[in-house]
Amino acid sequence: MTEHSAPSPNSHDNKQADALKEIRCVPFDVPVIDLMRGAARWELPVHEHGFIALVDVMPRLVAADQSADQAVVQAARLSYGLGTKSLSEDRGLNRYLMRHRHTTPFEMVEFKFHVAMPIFVARQWIRHRTANVNEYSGRYSVMQDRFYRPTIDMVRKQSATNRQGGEEAIDAATAEQFLAYLDRAESLYSEYIQLNEKGVARELARIGLPVNLYTEWYWKCDLHNVLRFLSLRMDAHAQAEIRDYATAMWRLMEPIVPITMEAFRDYEMESVRLTRLEVEAIRAGRAQIDSTNKREQAEWEAKRRGLGLDP
Ligand SMILES: Cc1cc2nc3c(=O)[nH]c(=O)nc-3n(C[C@H](O)[C@H](O)[C@H](O)COP(=O)(O)OP(=O)(O)OC[C@H]3O[C@@H](n4cnc5c(N)ncnc54)[C@H](O)[C@@H]3O)c2cc1C
Repeated sequence: MTEHSAPSPNSHDNKQADALKEIRCVPFDVPVIDLMRGAARWELPVHEHGFIALVDVMPRLVAADQSADQAVVQAARLSYGLGTKSLSEDRGLNRYLMRHRHTTPFEMVEFKFHVAMPIFVARQWIRHRTANVNEYSGRYSVMQDRFYRPTIDMVRKQSATNRQGGEEAIDAATAEQFLAYLDRAESLYSEYIQLNEKGVARELARIGLPVNLYTEWYWKCDLHNVLRFLSLRMDAHAQAEIRDYATAMWRLMEPIVPITMEAFRDYEMESVRLTRLEVEAIRAGRAQIDSTNKREQAEWEAKRRGLGLDP
């Protein structure tokens, strides 16, 4: 490839060629590949009507033997002035950055997802403020007839220990009653359509619809903040429905940034953070921490079980 491509007969190309006369275009110095293998999107279904699709990634073109992880170490090397190093050293540097929470190099990679999810999931998701979002407009367009219904075994009982959570499946009769309740809520959709047809503004007609209705958005976020999203939303404390999206998101990202995802698993997702009280209990060989807070004690007991400290 030369530094300046020849102008084509197309007027857009001519304008671009004019602009490029002033700009130094440096070609890739090695063969590059498209990390998404030429695909327009990589999509995974989530529940009956939802999906998450990866529609773009930056960088998308990388050297043939590399992944987008390369952009992380490239940024770090700029700040440390270390020059180009071998692939194994790249992996070591990536893992060092993750261990020591040097976060900005991970912001050099970006992911853009197209997601269809129930509104109650979107409300949790939107709290992650560092992303750029563009959502389907229920003022401009008619909402589609898509509602989330859990499978019967996913109709969960209120947790006795976690006020925000559900745990094992509730008895079959109550689960059936719950699904009938959803049927009645969803039946409002035909009235929504009628009211639209009678001329009620779409921005008002929609407000009687339930939050298990689906919405869609484009969600663009840098790697550092996507990882933060995953650590919160793949956690056992997150609601099962958003966890399913987060797990699918992980699967879409892994082939793009395999080294980062491995480091993230090793140093964040499957690591255990200890408090000062917990460190003191281990040092003193005590089974309990020096605290009267029941919740804190229970958290410590869960950590001890996870670490295999209790028989
Ligand atoms: C299990 C669970 C239960 C939850 N329950 C509730 C609840 O009951 N009620 C409720 O309201 N929320 C709840 N949340 C939402 C939670 O409090 C956070 O708002 C959400 O998880 C987003 O986290 P975040 O702020 O770290 O993410 P982001 O908004 O993506 O922010 C990432 C980081 O960027 C920085 N940042 C972002 N915006 C700013 C800013 N404007 N100024 C300075 N720094 C900024 C901060 O360091 C922040 O930690 C819950 C979340 C979880 C996972």
